[in-house]
Amino acid sequence: MIHSVTLDKDRCKGCTTCIKRCPTEAIRVRRGKATILSERCIDCGECVRACPHRAKRAVCDPWSRLSDFEYNIALPAPSLYGQFHNMDDAGIVLGGLVKAGFDEVYEVARAAETISDRMRQSRGSESALPVISSACPACTRLILQRFPKLIRHIDPCVAPAELAAIRARALAVKKTGLPGGKIGVFFITPCPAKMTAAHNPVGLPAPVIDGAFSMSDVYLRLLPAMKKVETPLPVTAGLMGIGWSVSGGEGKALLSGRYISVDGIPNVISVLEDIEDGKLEGIEFVEIGACTQGCLGGCLTVENPFVAKARIRNLQKYMPVSQNSYSPKEDGDDITRPLPLEFTPAWQLDSSLEAAMAKHRQIEALTERLPGLDCSSCGTPSCRALAEDVTLGFASEEDCIFHMREHMALSEGPPGDNFLPPPFRRSIEG
Ligand code: SF4
Ligand code: SF4
Repeated sequence: MIHSVTLDKDRCKGCTTCIKRCPTEAIRVRRGKATILSERCIDCGECVRACPHRAKRAVCDPWSRLSDFEYNIALPAPSLYGQFHNMDDAGIVLGGLVKAGFDEVYEVARAAETISDRMRQSRGSESALPVISSACPACTRLILQRFPKLIRHIDPCVAPAELAAIRARALAVKKTGLPGGKIGVFFITPCPAKMTAAHNPVGLPAPVIDGAFSMSDVYLRLLPAMKKVETPLPVTAGLMGIGWSVSGGEGKALLSGRYISVDGIPNVISVLEDIEDGKLEGIEFVEIGACTQGCLGGCLTVENPFVAKARIRNLQKYMPVSQNSYSPKEDGDDITRPLPLEFTPAWQLDSSLEAAMAKHRQIEALTERLPGLDCSSCGTPSCRALAEDVTLGFASEEDCIFHMREHMALSEGPPGDNFLPPPFRRSIEG
């Protein structure tokens, strides 16, 4: 799996700040450096925001990828429109993308409106209520890992960027006569989770997007390009589609009051737990986004999300409600995810149930013996995580700083490297 979130080892000071912010307990610090457990990382970007040394990075595709294709299409996320000062027409951004090097632009907001219409039409035929939004790939992967009972609640539609890519490529094939493989379709992403999803989609047999460019990089290219735009391109979405960039926008577009919008990963986890416990009676739709304020709060955006939200509101004043609808007869079914979503057990203790139960009991017993302070000095997020690592053979009970203190009191001679907690050891054996 290709992840967008990566570690710059040279910058990492092993300070352990990032460990506690990771919602999937995917980070460990050993021998002075952080490591990310790939199978657990959902690319939410929390550690990118938290690291005081900028050692965690969200890596996207390089701009040079454009030269791999004969014809290139930009898929701007609607959050891109909120990044610019003094702009009353999103068409200037669309024109700027063409001036910056794309042959064509297909708005993701347009696909979002189509999905909203499809969701309105399918109301009443849902397999499980509440339906949970699938627009945030970090949240979808969180459910696939930690909340298997809720998988059947996930909305069956592909993500707006995926639908935009499928439709943009099909239109470009007709228009240019080129085969689909010579057409590059690139998403302009506000967050690392969407970059990772572009390369590793869930519920699709293969990627439909050729790559993703960071919104902050594209922003720098757009500033001079937008100055050259004489006539803005027509905006093809309405206020509903552009509203998907803000937390609450997807829910509002359903035109039903029975939805809640939840932003920020700790809030998302708490609401998913409530759904598991059957506490959300009367709610039909739950919009979830890992970032505060929705996609406008993605760690690859440029503008303060609250300011960007005000700008989106301003742009919406001049827009029709919606310009796109869904017709199964005309469109065919390119909206429903072709493959089922499956549980991805990143926390599986053993493939044998009996052995897993034995390990579980070991973890419980060891957690009881540890001090329960969750101080993270051992390089894991909690005492329970250390107990898991010890049981799985990745750490030692002696990594606990309190156990180390006992050893130091008992030992003779000066304390050596082995008496330091793992984040601060320098030896290979540590
Ligand atoms: S916050 Fe994490 S990645 Fe950043 S320097 Fe500290 S340990 Fe390294
Ligand atoms: S991106 Fe999110 S899930 Fe991945 S390591 Fe960082 S905080 Fe954890």
